[in-house]
Amino acid sequence: MRLILLGPPGAGKGTQAQRLTTNQGLVQLSTGDMLRAAVKAGTAIGLKAKAVMDSGALVSDEIVVGIIAERIDQPDCRKGFILDGFPRTTKQAEALDKMLAERKLKLDAVIEMKVNDSVLVERITGRFTCGKCGAGYHDKFQPTRQPGVCDRCGSTEFTRRADDNADTVVSRLKAYHEQTAPLLPYYEGRGILKQVDGMAEIDEVTRQIEGILASL
Ligand code: AMP
Repeated sequence: MRLILLGPPGAGKGTQAQRLTTNQGLVQLSTGDMLRAAVKAGTAIGLKAKAVMDSGALVSDEIVVGIIAERIDQPDCRKGFILDGFPRTTKQAEALDKMLAERKLKLDAVIEMKVNDSVLVERITGRFTCGKCGAGYHDKFQPTRQPGVCDRCGSTEFTRRADDNADTVVSRLKAYHEQTAPLLPYYEGRGILKQVDGMAEIDEVTRQIEGILASL
């Protein structure tokens, strides 16, 4: 199974992708996570990407297409993968089509997570992640059960993304509407676009996605 989760920043793509990796045995391919890892490691790609990411703009198509092309050939992707945060431009979508065609693979579905812009700033600025196991939380909507302790692994170290601040969020939303939203008609034209209500409770969104996967 090969899926794309499509939606604005803060729609819940990462949260749902994490759940699908657990429930469906698929690999989560998040270009945002890969770029953040490159920034942290100080690689050539990381050095190029950092300032762009901090500004809320998109990193060049060449960089992210290169990252994904390399990643999908790794053995753990054979069973299937969920693309989270890629593609984000028509050029990237076309490059993905080419990559998959060359490998005789197809996309099973593109799932749009529909969320009103008005809730996204609050959703994004409250996010934090366990520094050890990567579990995602939110100050208001999904706090840890015990304050300051990760539910999943018990770690007490958490991180917040540098670009999860109110100013950068505005640029990220602008980039979504201008550069990524045109992918919706692109995939609708191919008959593989599905939609879920990203405003619903996290468990309900998971149920809607699993319903779609069961119907494929
Ligand atoms: P995300 O974690 O998906 O919100 O991505 C964080 C940042 O990484 C974005 O604001 C972009 O600067 C960059 N980024 C992630 N994925 C892509 C992509 N597919 N194309 C271009 N830039 C990306």
